[in-house]
Amino acid sequence: MSVQHAGSWTVATLLARASRLPEVRVWALILIGIVASLVGASDSVIDLSPWDFLSMAGAGALLWFTLEVVLHRWLLHMPVPKGARLRALHYRLHWRHHEAPTDFTNLTVPLWGALALHLLAAAAGAAIGGPSGVLPTLLGFSLAFGAYELAHFAAHVPYRPRTSWGRSMKRQHLWHHFKNERYWFGVTHPLLDRLLGTAPPPSDVPRSSTATELEAPAPKDQR
Ligand SMILES: [Zn+2]
Ligand SMILES: [Zn+2]
Repeated sequence: MSVQHAGSWTVATLLARASRLPEVRVWALILIGIVASLVGASDSVIDLSPWDFLSMAGAGALLWFTLEVVLHRWLLHMPVPKGARLRALHYRLHWRHHEAPTDFTNLTVPLWGALALHLLAAAAGAAIGGPSGVLPTLLGFSLAFGAYELAHFAAHVPYRPRTSWGRSMKRQHLWHHFKNERYWFGVTHPLLDRLLGTAPPPSDVPRSSTATELEAPAPKDQR
């Protein structure tokens, strides 16, 4: 758990292992698809100035960096749903990851979730910038989403991030897992946690008894 003692993987190992996660392969294809569409897009589709293009891509990235915290805090850590089906879904989406943080099958956003999020980003791009806004927004969103998945993967494998930002974020994510799951929801940045008051000094936060297991027992067939 200590970041200082977790430094046996190189960047190459990290990237090679991450690229073997099935969802990451599909997202790489999505990203390649977006880039190919951008290259092949006619002027009538992409009639943005470089500045507008970058602004739309930035808006897409900002959308993901916001959703990363909002979804984690309010959807994935919502009170355990009452219905059996919803509870099973809730368990599969996130609690299974808290119970077994290093199990690679639970580590990434499921593919259907990633596709739905990309659709949302495309709709946001169209709403802000019209048809020309879709691809640049998707590009920024997809890159930010990939950065999140890589940072999350790096938090759970024996890799020591190169930058102090990376090491600090890894430490915070491990506090979220092993100290108290009601704090430190950001994985790539601490900014929203600071705004929301969920990034206090760890010494001020009590250890939670539910950080590594569901508050109510999970359905047997989901374990
Ligand atoms: Zn995690
Ligand atoms: Zn969590």
